[in-house]
Amino acid sequence: MLEHAGMVAVYVGMHTATRIAIEALPRIRQLAPQAHLCVYGLYAPMNEALLRAAGVGTVLGGEVEPALLALCQGLRLNGSSPIQEEPVISLARVPFVMPDRSALPKLQSYAHLVLPGGTTRVAGFAEGSRGCKHLCRHCPVVPVYQGKFRIVPVDVVMQDIRQQVEEGATHISFGDPDFFNGPTHGLKLARALHAQFPAVTFDATIKIQHLIEHAALLPELRECGCLFITSAVEAVDDDILRLLDKNHSSRDFDRAVTLTRAAGIALAPTFVAFTPWTTLEGYIALLERLVELQLVQSVPPVQLTIRLLVPAGSWLLKLPGFEERLLAFDAKLLGYPWSHADARVDLLQRKLLSEVALREQQGTARREIFATVWRMAHEAAARTAPALAVKLGDPGPRLSEPWYCCAEPTEQQLQAF
Ligand code: SF4
Repeated sequence: MLEHAGMVAVYVGMHTATRIAIEALPRIRQLAPQAHLCVYGLYAPMNEALLRAAGVGTVLGGEVEPALLALCQGLRLNGSSPIQEEPVISLARVPFVMPDRSALPKLQSYAHLVLPGGTTRVAGFAEGSRGCKHLCRHCPVVPVYQGKFRIVPVDVVMQDIRQQVEEGATHISFGDPDFFNGPTHGLKLARALHAQFPAVTFDATIKIQHLIEHAALLPELRECGCLFITSAVEAVDDDILRLLDKNHSSRDFDRAVTLTRAAGIALAPTFVAFTPWTTLEGYIALLERLVELQLVQSVPPVQLTIRLLVPAGSWLLKLPGFEERLLAFDAKLLGYPWSHADARVDLLQRKLLSEVALREQQGTARREIFATVWRMAHEAAARTAPALAVKLGDPGPRLSEPWYCCAEPTEQQLQAF
């Protein structure tokens, strides 16, 4: 079917997708020998050299649509050109139109919403903005957008939501890197969604700093159908938060939990549990905080195993002295490997990763997996694990696939491909 294709474009919006793409490229080349290969998305510019070595002719990141269109038109007219004419990163404003989803798999094939009682709902996806005005060091958005963000007009977002609601979506997951980069725009979207589809719920990603600064908007988000907010807390250690330039403190996390709870919105915090600065005591402190805040069941267990990813171009490399701690770039990992100064930390991370993957595969409940993580962490620090509190919090609404952009893919994800 692909043998006469003139162009194949692969989207790499996440690290996992990029690793899968690198493995898929030789096979794509076999299936589509005449095609011009293009790889686009957040992770493409950072891995440009590697992609070009794999035979990719065009690499695009940022606001890619005009360049993709120009590439298709140019190929039709003139055939493949040996030199890329489009910029590798463009932040030029895109005249957005409603995305054409007609050739995509049915919405039912994607991740769905799981409600606390276990009922599920078909989820759609919409983007109200792209990029981010912040510069968190470990974030893959930063090397491409460098502190800028772009708004998608409300009417275009609503047209896209409408077509998905017509296809059966009763929940919308907003994929904006941060829904409150432009709080007025975020609120307009929430209001428009609720006005047009009062029964449709939504979730969004909002950083801790914005949850505190714009706390007054949270009750209205809830009234408009916001069920949960994902927030990249990353750590509960103030030194690590400073190194990552997160612009929030450990206690701000507690405040955000109180504010979202008061508004009736569930908070789904995400973490980079293992960094070169994480100690065994610090890791245990993270687990203790989840117990204290009754958030144990709000955190996908895989979050407790995530190791800091240092991709090419990461702003972590600007941290004085950090690069010297890294090993040479690993093309298979698509990142710079690092090892912890305390070998017990790396050992614990590896053991947790395989244990959690196995238990998740077996369908073990989050609180039981957490109890195992709790025990293993204390064992690693040669401490007796205290009995866990009876109240660990209730499971909140969530999406059925907890994949995160800064996480290394698990072996199962790679093998599934
Ligand atoms: S982690 Fe979130 S707030 Fe920080 S730069 Fe990335 S998208 Fe923006």
